[in-house]
Amino acid sequence: MTSYPHMLRPLDLGFTTLKNRVLMGSMHTNLEERGDWNRVAAFYAARAKGGAGLIVTGGMAPNAEGGVFPGASGLFTAEDIAHHRMVTDRVHEEGGKIAMQILHAGRYAYGPDCVAPSAIKSPISPFPPKELDEAGIEKQIADIATAAAHAREAGYDGVEVMGSEGYFLNQFLVTHTNRREDRWGGSYENRMRLPVEVMKRVRAAVGEDFIVIFRLSMIDLVPNGSTHEEVVQLARAIEAAGANILNTGIGWHEARVPTIATSVPRAGFAWVTKKLMGKVGIPVITSNRINTPQVAEELLAEGCADMVSLARPFLADPDFVAKAEAGRADLIAPCIACNQACLDHTFQGKVSSCLVNPRAGHETELVIDKAETPRRIAVVGAGPAGLSCAITAAQRGHDVTLFEQADEIGGQLNMARKVPGKEEFDGLVDWFAAMVAEAGVTLQLGTRADAEVLAGFDAVVVATGVLPRDPQIPGQDHPKVLSYVDVLRGAAEVGPRVAVVGAGGIGFDVSEFLVTGKSPTVDLPEWLREWGVTDPEQARSGLAPEGPQPEPAAREVVLLQRKAEKVGKRLGKTTGWIHRAALMLKGVKMKAGVSYERIDDAGLHILRDGKPELIACDTVVLCAGQESLRTLADALAGAEVHVIGGADVAAELDAKRAIDQGVRLAAGL
Ligand code: NAP
Ligand code: SF4
Repeated sequence: MTSYPHMLRPLDLGFTTLKNRVLMGSMHTNLEERGDWNRVAAFYAARAKGGAGLIVTGGMAPNAEGGVFPGASGLFTAEDIAHHRMVTDRVHEEGGKIAMQILHAGRYAYGPDCVAPSAIKSPISPFPPKELDEAGIEKQIADIATAAAHAREAGYDGVEVMGSEGYFLNQFLVTHTNRREDRWGGSYENRMRLPVEVMKRVRAAVGEDFIVIFRLSMIDLVPNGSTHEEVVQLARAIEAAGANILNTGIGWHEARVPTIATSVPRAGFAWVTKKLMGKVGIPVITSNRINTPQVAEELLAEGCADMVSLARPFLADPDFVAKAEAGRADLIAPCIACNQACLDHTFQGKVSSCLVNPRAGHETELVIDKAETPRRIAVVGAGPAGLSCAITAAQRGHDVTLFEQADEIGGQLNMARKVPGKEEFDGLVDWFAAMVAEAGVTLQLGTRADAEVLAGFDAVVVATGVLPRDPQIPGQDHPKVLSYVDVLRGAAEVGPRVAVVGAGGIGFDVSEFLVTGKSPTVDLPEWLREWGVTDPEQARSGLAPEGPQPEPAAREVVLLQRKAEKVGKRLGKTTGWIHRAALMLKGVKMKAGVSYERIDDAGLHILRDGKPELIACDTVVLCAGQESLRTLADALAGAEVHVIGGADVAAELDAKRAIDQGVRLAAGL
């Protein structure tokens, strides 16, 4: 008897059956644009082999003006269709099913030729769109229908029409972006005409025995978005127009509410999808922050949806479903919703990958095969770099011993997991523990490895990590001065007024830790209040009229940096704004362009714009970055020694680089 009976139940669509209720949601990977179609096929085939019930590809442009950026991939030519045929063939060989997403970006298209219902520029793009005329609208509909027909020719099992997240079709639906006075604007019947017409024409283009999913924005989270009644009206019209499945979209990309970041509670928007259940006759999919089979099972058992969509978790682990089916959910690499290697890469034009699984998107190039000659390998340091290296080396057949001086694995992850909103790091450390055991790594906790202990190994990997940097501020030996390590480990009392020195990732984390009482990430009603989200039946678009209502801050915090640039500028591209907004909501003051003069009983004395200022405080927390801890590496001269992670380069170290370096080194050992 499986632990996930609802999740693993097939879904009969009449003309075809999905083998389970897990959809791999659409993600842009930047792979298609690179033209290596074998690599694209390998990426999707791995997810099909791993058991996804239905895969949806990254968004494909229906035409040049609708592409998310100039040159975005689409099915325009016979050659394009042949390339996509490679993907669908490989997915089918693995027993999977795959649908192609058709994504028209409208005013979100990052190019000068973008088009929209009205000429209103979006706040997240520099390009004002051109307002479409009647012929222009007809062209967009025809191009979307043609893309669907081409998808069928390319062997896809279906298409997903992207109607949410503030893209083109969504832009017609609401007055926020549609100010037209013709038959495509004005009343709601007129505004929904385009998505409904698109659905009819897509159905006509592909025939009856082809899956057509419509992704519908169920809560827009922008001013003047849809009401719940309008969402239901549209859902029914889309069903009548021929859709087989309705998928959930949550929030527009320009919304000022986080919808997928790690601080969003797990399954934090499933209640929105649930509101549509029973109001339409076709299956409904829920989405956002579903990252374990347990969560998926609970949502389906509670009737929140007929199916669940997981996107990033399939980057973290292509075998999500297969491992759940085998009763080994503990071995599923967890998506921690950090966006660091997926969305942040997408926006930088890099191939999307995954912090916990560097093989994602690199399946053909980063191959983990059996070592020709098994060797005895010592890895010193059980932080993310050492753990990844030890596990991968052991999977390759090496005899691996992992030494850790502390009495637990995890290294810096054990500090991250203490930060409110970063609870997902708990799952990451648990997964590393399960994998160490599964791979057969010999773990020696509480062991300080020196040259003597390490003699006799064929190779030593030094992953000893970092030490906090000493900022050398006069008076920093004052008892009110603490290191972030003392604070996050709970080893010291922190007063009610705090100055945080250094505004990198850790300065932000420490500030969050200091101002937050109970983490709203584990209390959904509180989280929704904090970000000003309400029931879309009560308020249009799901935006609470009273706005965000955060709990009062637990402390007064001032966050400082020497650089004159905006505080938090170097945080993650897709998550930095959330960290900044969260601290602003708690009244944290941010000061840039400062120099530190001294610390004394009164507080922290700084210079700003050449003028002296006192930050009156009870505690100063030093978060001034790190330096490599590599004394062991220096002592092992002569042996085969590899240095990875923070011990190698401390600057801009993060778990993404540490894990990637660990896995890549082990792949070649
Ligand atoms: P960091 O990002 O390098 O930031 C260090 C901060 O200290 C900067 O604000 C820097 O700004 C300041 N600083 C540097 N030298 C200083 C000195 N001598 N005196 C005073 N201030 C000094 O390092 P971190 O915050 O320790 O984070 C370490 C790594 O962990 C980061 O690379 C980050 O990617 C990762 N991390 C990521 C997250 C995340 O959410 N993704 C969270 C936590 C940590 P000024 O020089 O301008 O003062
Ligand atoms: Fe999830 Fe982070 Fe991996 Fe993206 S990079 S898939 S958010 S763990």
